Amino acid sequence: MRNKSNRSNLKPLEIGIQAISGIGPKREKELKRLGINNVADLFYYFPRRYEDRSQFTPLDRLINNTNVTIQGTIKKTEIVRPKKSLTIYKAFLVNETGSIIAVWFNQPFLKNVLKAGTNIIASGKVDLKFERQIIVSDYEICRSEPEQLHTGRIIPVYWGSEKITSKLLREIIYKAKDKYLSQMEETLPPEIIDKYQLMSLTEALSEIHFPSDFDLLKKARYRLVFEELLVLQLSIKAYRKKIEKLRGVKHCKDKTLTDKLVENLPFSLTEAQKKVISQIEHDMESEKIMYRLVQGDVGAGKTVVAVWALVKAINGGFQGVLMAPTEILAEQHYLNLQKILKPLEISPVLLTGNTPITEKKEILNSVSQGEIKLVIGTHALIQNEVIFKNLGLIIIDEQHRFGVKQRLALQEKGSNPDVLVMTATPIPRSLALTLYCDMDLSIIDELPPGRKEVKTYHLSEKNRQQVYNLINREIKNGHQVYIVCPLVEESERLDLENVQRLADFLKSRIFPRYNIAVLHGRMTRSEKESIMNRFRNGEINILVTTTVIEVGVDVPNATVMVIENAERFGLAQLHQLRGRIGRGHAQSYCILVSEAKTEVAKARMEVMCRSNDGFIIAEEDLKIRGPGEIFGIKQHGLPDLKIADLILDQPILAETGRLVNQILAEGLDLPKYHKFKMAVEEKIKNNKINY
Ligand code: ADP
Ligand code: MG
Repeated sequence: MRNKSNRSNLKPLEIGIQAISGIGPKREKELKRLGINNVADLFYYFPRRYEDRSQFTPLDRLINNTNVTIQGTIKKTEIVRPKKSLTIYKAFLVNETGSIIAVWFNQPFLKNVLKAGTNIIASGKVDLKFERQIIVSDYEICRSEPEQLHTGRIIPVYWGSEKITSKLLREIIYKAKDKYLSQMEETLPPEIIDKYQLMSLTEALSEIHFPSDFDLLKKARYRLVFEELLVLQLSIKAYRKKIEKLRGVKHCKDKTLTDKLVENLPFSLTEAQKKVISQIEHDMESEKIMYRLVQGDVGAGKTVVAVWALVKAINGGFQGVLMAPTEILAEQHYLNLQKILKPLEISPVLLTGNTPITEKKEILNSVSQGEIKLVIGTHALIQNEVIFKNLGLIIIDEQHRFGVKQRLALQEKGSNPDVLVMTATPIPRSLALTLYCDMDLSIIDELPPGRKEVKTYHLSEKNRQQVYNLINREIKNGHQVYIVCPLVEESERLDLENVQRLADFLKSRIFPRYNIAVLHGRMTRSEKESIMNRFRNGEINILVTTTVIEVGVDVPNATVMVIENAERFGLAQLHQLRGRIGRGHAQSYCILVSEAKTEVAKARMEVMCRSNDGFIIAEEDLKIRGPGEIFGIKQHGLPDLKIADLILDQPILAETGRLVNQILAEGLDLPKYHKFKMAVEEKIKNNKINY
C-alpha cells in the first residue's frame, strides 16, 4: 500500500514502511528481509550497540589510533591521487582548540559537498603517524537544526544488510520517530508504570534509538525489557493454565508390558531413573495432559525413560511417537528400540526426510490405520501427511534443538496427547522456571554406575604427536575414536573437504593400518547408516566427522574424542560432543586441540578440563559470557527476545515473575489490562500458541 499521508486513524502497526519518505518498493523488500514490515516494527528494531559521539575531543588532545568525534570549520580542501585506484579527499579543519586534516578515501564527489567555510562534525580514527589526520568514518554538516543524527551524540548502531546500512536505518527510524512515534499507544496500565517507575512507551522508544544521555538510555532499556519479559512470562503461564483445564489421555494402569521391558533390560535402572519414571507414570495415568521436561546430563540414560513411557502408552492401546533432531540420532533410536522392544513384540518404524516414497506411503497408511504403534523419526514427522489413529504420547528428544512451533505441530496430531520432552542442557533453576514454567520438571541427577569421569586435556598443535600416541594406544586396547572438525565459515562443502583431507592424511601418513572413515551431513541416508553401523560394530577404528554426531550418539566402546579447533565451539557444544564418550566402563579421553588465543577461549578450555558436570559448565559459561553462544540459550526454541537478555536481566525477570502472578490472580480480563492483554495475545499469536 503506497500511502504517504499521515492518516491518524491508523496505528503504526498498520502503517506500511513506504509511508516513510525515501522508501520505495526496493527498500521495502530489503527491510522485510530484516523482519521489518511496518512502522511499529521499525520502532522495535533495536540498536545492537551505541557509539558515544556526544563529546567533541579538543584538537590539541588527540591520541593516536583512538576513535574520536571532533568539530571544526573547513579552511580549505584538496584532492590527491597517489595512484590510479585511490583518491584522497582532504579537508583542513580548524576550531578554537587547534587544527587537523580530515581524510576520506575514494569519495571525490565530496568536493561538491564539503567546501571551505562549511562547519562539520566528524567521527573517525586519529592518525598522527605522518601528519595530524583523522580518517573519517562518519560526518555530518552542522546545521542550525536542533538535532544531529550521525555524530555529535550517542548514536545507535544497527544490524543492517548490504543494501540497508546501519546509517540508513538510523535515518529511516529517525523519520519514523518524528512522524509516527506519538501514535504508539501505551500498553501498560498506569498503576504498573507508577509502581515500577517505568518510562512511558513513547519516551522509551525514543530514548532507546536516540538517547539523550546514558542514564535515560538505561531507563528506556529497563522499561522495554520489563515489558518484554512480562509478556513472555504471561503468555507461557496463560498457556499452561489453558492446558490444565483440558482433558488429556488417561493411560491405563496395567503394567504387563512395562514390567516386561524392565526385566529384559541388560542393566538395572538407577534410582534417579526410577524416580523420574514414577513421576511420568503418575502424570500419564491422570486425566490431565502430561507436560513434562526430563533433564539429565549427557549419558545419564534418558532414552530408557522415554522407552518406558512409550511402552506404557502402547500397553493401553495408544500410539506413541519419538522425534529426534538428526537423522543419525533417529536411526540410532530406531535400531536400539527395535532391539529392546522385540521381546515385547512391538516393532517401531523409522520416518525421516530420506525415507523412500513407496516405503513412506506404506508407513503413513499403517500409522493412520493404527497398525503401527510406534513411530520414530525426525522433523519429517510433523508434515501434514502424517496422521495418527490414536496418538497418546509424544516424546521429543534433545528438545532444545526444536522450536516451540514444531512441538505444537506434533501435538496437534493427537487429541491432547501427553508430552514428554528431553534435554541435556542444564540451565540455572531460576531460568528453567521461566523458560519452562509451562512444564513440570524431572531431573535425572545420577549417572549409571561404573562410569569413569572423562579425562580432558587441552593441547596445542605442537603436541600433536601425543594425540596420535593416545589414539594408537586406545585402538590397540580395542577402543574407538572420534575426531571432530568444526564448521568452516558455514560452508558445508569446505567442511567435507576438511574432514576428507584430515582422514586422508591420517590414513596415508599416520595410521595406515587402521580403518578410518568420514561422516558428514551431506552423505545420503544409506551412506550415513552404513558408516554408523560399521562404527557401532567396531569395524571402524577412527571416525573423522563434522558435528553431525553432536547430540545423542551412543557408542559405548568409543573412548577418545579429539576436537579440532576447539576454540570455535561454545561450551554447550563442547560438553555435548564430549558426552559421546565415557558411556561405558573404560576410561575415556577428550582432547581439545586448540591454539586458544582469546581470554574467552582459554577460559572455556580451562573449564572443560576442570569439570565434567554440565551444571558447573553452564554456570561457568554464564560467567565467561564471551561472544557467541551462551549455554544452550540460543537453542531453546523460545520466542526470540528483542531486547531482554535472559541471563543479565534475571533481576527484572524475578520482578516480572511476581507481577505475572499478581495479574493472573486479579484476572487479565479486567478493563485496565485491556491494551496489555492485546499485546500478550499478539505475542501468543506470533508463536502460534492458542490462547
Ligand atoms: P542420554 O541421557 O545422553 O540420552 P542414553 O540414554 O543414550 O543417555 O544412555 C547412555 C548409555 O547408558 C546407553 O548406552 C545406555 O544403554 C546406558 N544406560 C542407561 N541407563 C543405564 C543404567 N541404569 N545402567 C547402566 N547403563 C545404562
Ligand atoms: Mg539421548
